[in-house]
Amino acid sequence: MKRVTSIAEARAAVAQSRADGRLVGLVPTMGAFHEGHLSLMRRARADCGHVAVSLFVNPIQFGPQEDLTRYPRDPDRDAMLAHEVGVDLLFEPGVDEMYPTGFATFVEVERLSGHLCGRSRPGHFRGVATVVTKLFSIIAPDRAYFGRKDYQQLRIIERLTSDLSLPVVVVSMPIVREADGVAMSSRNRYLSPEERVAARVLHESLSAANAEFARGERDGRAIAGRTEARIRAEPRARLEYAEVVDAGTLEPIAEIRQAALLAVAAHFGTTRLIDSTLLGVGEPP
Ligand code: AMP
Repeated sequence: MKRVTSIAEARAAVAQSRADGRLVGLVPTMGAFHEGHLSLMRRARADCGHVAVSLFVNPIQFGPQEDLTRYPRDPDRDAMLAHEVGVDLLFEPGVDEMYPTGFATFVEVERLSGHLCGRSRPGHFRGVATVVTKLFSIIAPDRAYFGRKDYQQLRIIERLTSDLSLPVVVVSMPIVREADGVAMSSRNRYLSPEERVAARVLHESLSAANAEFARGERDGRAIAGRTEARIRAEPRARLEYAEVVDAGTLEPIAEIRQAALLAVAAHFGTTRLIDSTLLGVGEPP
């Protein structure tokens, strides 16, 4: 596995593989790898002749009060794990490489960015959409891999890819969970032992909602309301939202007639966690 920090080196490494006729897969990440990240890399490895992983903690997607400075970083451990799953290229640019003269150009995906997490994190999805577009420009992947853990982000990237006619296939992968159901996240390591136990309430409340849906409940507001109550019953959780939305547009829906997403966000101490589940048959549109 090659480790590079400059855009020029990354372009050159990928160009060589492309010239050899290999399909290029990209897995964009912010590092601190866990099984969620590795599942994307393994899938990319199975699909593509050349697997590139980017590791960049993107400052323009963090708000001023957010955890940019304490975001976990362990690039050597990450490199070892990426190497073990067969990654070809680890692209680890510094902020100076990605934004040498600051930045004046942004990619804004309207409407989708305003729902759910967009309400409490203004500018977050603009930062994500911008850096992902830039990574697509640098690596020019045939396929790019994203987890449904960050469902809103996935939808936004699918939309920008389609709106800008970017020649990349966006592949989404299921949420990888710990044994007790908690969705894997680089931020889980911030949780105290008590908060880590309390964090189970997110997955438990989603499972309960799934069971209600399976029994025939189709009232989106009722499902969201009961999910909210379950999370509020956990004293260590500070609920931000529990919402049933259209899985394609992310608009809130009252009655579930099409694929829907139940999404939740809550704070445990100083750590903000998100989780979600699809309600309804099969994959979203
Ligand atoms: P991050 O490093 O948190 O920006 O995540 C990089 C990629 O890994 C994104 O596409 C995430 O959706 C995905 N990812 C993070 N956690 C998980 C998880 N528990 N299961 C599946 N994918 C995940």
